[in-house]
Amino acid sequence: MIDRILVTRIKGYVLLLLYLCAWLIPFSSRAQNTVIKAGHLFNFRTGEFSQDQTVLVKEGKILAVGRNLPYSRTDTLIDLSNAWVLPGLIDCHVHLTTNFPYRNLSLAQAYTTESSSLRALRGGHVAGQLLRGGFTTVKEIGNDANYASADVIKAINHGWLAGPHIVYAGKIIAPYGGQTSGVNSEHEHLWDFEFIDADTPDEIKKAVRKNIYYGATVIKLVSGDNAYYNVEDIQAAVQEASKTGLKVTVHVMGGPAARNAILGGAAAIEHGFDLDDELLRLMHKRGTFLVGTDFSFANWYAYGMDSTAAHQLESRGIDRLQRAYKSQVKLAFGTDIIVDLPGLNRLQTNLKELQTWKLAKIPAAYTLQTMTLYAAELLGVGETRGVIAPAYWADIIALKSNPLADITRVEQVKFVMKKGKVVRLD
Ligand SMILES: [Zn+2]
Repeated sequence: MIDRILVTRIKGYVLLLLYLCAWLIPFSSRAQNTVIKAGHLFNFRTGEFSQDQTVLVKEGKILAVGRNLPYSRTDTLIDLSNAWVLPGLIDCHVHLTTNFPYRNLSLAQAYTTESSSLRALRGGHVAGQLLRGGFTTVKEIGNDANYASADVIKAINHGWLAGPHIVYAGKIIAPYGGQTSGVNSEHEHLWDFEFIDADTPDEIKKAVRKNIYYGATVIKLVSGDNAYYNVEDIQAAVQEASKTGLKVTVHVMGGPAARNAILGGAAAIEHGFDLDDELLRLMHKRGTFLVGTDFSFANWYAYGMDSTAAHQLESRGIDRLQRAYKSQVKLAFGTDIIVDLPGLNRLQTNLKELQTWKLAKIPAAYTLQTMTLYAAELLGVGETRGVIAPAYWADIIALKSNPLADITRVEQVKFVMKKGKVVRLD
């Protein structure tokens, strides 16, 4: 009898507990939601801003987007009703760990005076700048000493450092000599610090495997700085990379080296400063992206060019950007800065390139799409990033004024959220 009373009581307690849990769990998860009131929200399809939208964020992802969405009083409210809200920006060509002295670019000096650990510390510092400046995803494209960026990524993943999501190339794969020139034979392999010599399809495949082993999530080849790759060389990289779902991107300026990269199946051309109209048409036909790294005059000058050469290079860059845009080549924003401008940090130096987009008269809405939607597509993260829509990661930023009126206003960041966590709210 006593046992039966006890059993009944225990059953009662269990039921009460289950009831409380059932009531508390949705309440507590609801309490974790974040509600963003967006005065102006970037519409990724039209490139326009929609007015007075609400974005609901739950557990790092976007739950819903719309006008006057209902939400709970216990939700966290972020009022951006006076701001221009965009998906987190994406830079498809950064060198987090590299910074050469102003107008004094020497690979040999950098390799012998800066260790991989020093480079990684710089990389962590720059990663934080880029995230706070609204770049929630970047493609770290190599030239990072002995896999220094692999450690930066680990530190960010551990939560030791604040930084963007990083798509990582590992060591740069190139024909003999990497991107060095003039090294005497007694210092052969000096460049092994930052490059893997790969001169046959088999050597390229091995280099791809090595980079994947050390954490690469994209494969980068350099072609044409010394020798250039044949179509079958590029194909070897593409085939090996595709086994693990990775894409291949090729640093190349133009001419037959670029043609081989396009025909070999590269996902993108990096730089492409010398692409002629025929090659641009081929890229459009094949769906090859261009990451144009569109240096402004100030950036060219910082590399050590004299003023006349820097102006010529800037003009050539504007012309190539305009022709690429007219040819309907897919463009993805990428900066490639390795020399900071005097008084400016890496983020501010990177954004100087928006001057080039402005001078080329590329519509601001399209430029924003190259920094979000199209960049995400190129990086293979288009299912999760580049768009503010339900089920996408909550990588969201806000600007103080309308970037459609002037694209350089992308500098005026007042809010950054990375995967649902607020990084910055001014
Ligand atoms: Zn670069």
